[in-house]
Amino acid sequence: MRAHEAGALHADGYGGPPQWLPYPGDVNALLPQLWPVSARRENGRLNVGGVDMVALAQEFGTPAYVIDELDFRQRAAAFRDDFSAPFKARGGGVDVYYAGKAFLCTQVARWVMDEGLMLDVCSGGELAVAQRVGFPGERVEMHGNNKSAAEIEAALAYGVGRIVADSFDEIARIAAIARDRGVVAPVMLRITVGVEAHTHEYIATAHEDQKFGFSLNSGQAERAVQAVLAEPDAMQLVGLHSHIGSQIFDVAGFEVAAARLLRLHAHIAERYGQVLEHLDLGGGFGIAYTSENTPATAADLGAGMAAIVERECAAAGVAMPRISIEPGRAIVGSSTFTLYEVGTVKEVDLDGGMRRRYVSVDGGMSDNVRTALYGADYSCTTVNRESQAGPALARVVGKHCESGDIVVMDEYLPADLHPGDLLAVPGTGAYCRALSNQYNHIPRPPVVAVRDGNARVIVRRESVEDILALDVD
Ligand SMILES: *Cc1c(COP(=O)(O)O)cnc(C)c1O
Repeated sequence: MRAHEAGALHADGYGGPPQWLPYPGDVNALLPQLWPVSARRENGRLNVGGVDMVALAQEFGTPAYVIDELDFRQRAAAFRDDFSAPFKARGGGVDVYYAGKAFLCTQVARWVMDEGLMLDVCSGGELAVAQRVGFPGERVEMHGNNKSAAEIEAALAYGVGRIVADSFDEIARIAAIARDRGVVAPVMLRITVGVEAHTHEYIATAHEDQKFGFSLNSGQAERAVQAVLAEPDAMQLVGLHSHIGSQIFDVAGFEVAAARLLRLHAHIAERYGQVLEHLDLGGGFGIAYTSENTPATAADLGAGMAAIVERECAAAGVAMPRISIEPGRAIVGSSTFTLYEVGTVKEVDLDGGMRRRYVSVDGGMSDNVRTALYGADYSCTTVNRESQAGPALARVVGKHCESGDIVVMDEYLPADLHPGDLLAVPGTGAYCRALSNQYNHIPRPPVVAVRDGNARVIVRRESVEDILALDVD
């Protein structure tokens, strides 16, 4: 945890690179696991989706998020195919819900729809994106720990395939609205299974002391089951759900979660005579942000999870329910990078005779708050040229009025980096545009999709006029 009240600068010791950051043999190299599959250097310049990034920056300006459409589609298809194959081989099936909260806009919703995935939304706003593109209602799932009556109304009116209930208040709210509308709401129950995924503590979501779900251990989960089953004219219990965290690199965490959920699933069948159709194991599959991370492939995860589910179903003595997963970051994260222009390069003297090089770019914590929010690590490379100058350790910072406004904590960049150079930060597809803000009245960057040598804006750049339009004199 790097965040610190006095600002991130004060939390770490000053000095050299972190242990995990290797001195690069070639400071211009692109590490394949960080980039869209089409990324390469052409005449020294970064080229993605057949588009030259210098030309793209000239046409659309910086900062800009650039998303490789085919890369996104390939990752979506990999989750669809590489999960369904091992489950099918065991007589089961799997539904892949793209977690829209990672990044959602109408184009991305269309790609998700085209690729045959389902869509997970957790607010009325995200549902509106699904509606805008005509995403089939039965393929939409609604999450959230405090869905308003209006959001539940909208979800039921749209005919969503499932609403994941998170509290007793919500169960009552869903039942009342469904009864009013004369429909039976398909309800899943979010269960906290008490699994702490290997991840950062601020983004883990399956501790007992957290806001989501019904806890297993306290008996809450079973009381929630009873509450839903008590109103068959208003609600149908379609399954159990758990989400154990984020940036998870292996399937071990899912083993205990699946075992505990399946025990409850078996208990519901035995005690209440209800065999639930679905079991949702959530998302949280990790991606590479730096050379330190080695994420599993969808094929490895699918095979591992299918084996776990088969084994735990046998242990619980139940037939395999239809499984759902909800990857967000693992589909969109590495498909996208952020382009920035360098504005200043400054050397700062540190205690002990050390120096640090600060590289300021034209964005920052407004377009990527993850570093400031929870000490996320990123990497970075030059876009407009290859350099023969050799590597120099740098910290890439934004233009906001916070010392914690850091984009990349530590990275080797060419020693001759100068104002006007372009930088790209890979792995910014998830929770960057989605968590963006207008701090310092800096308008939010556009999202530009590249494919087959073409670039097109899929979310336009915000303008100062857009921001001022909300002010009421
Ligand atoms: C955030 C979230 C996801 C997606 O998490 P990723 O780390 O982006 O895969 C899936 N399901 C639920 C319930 C979530 O809260």
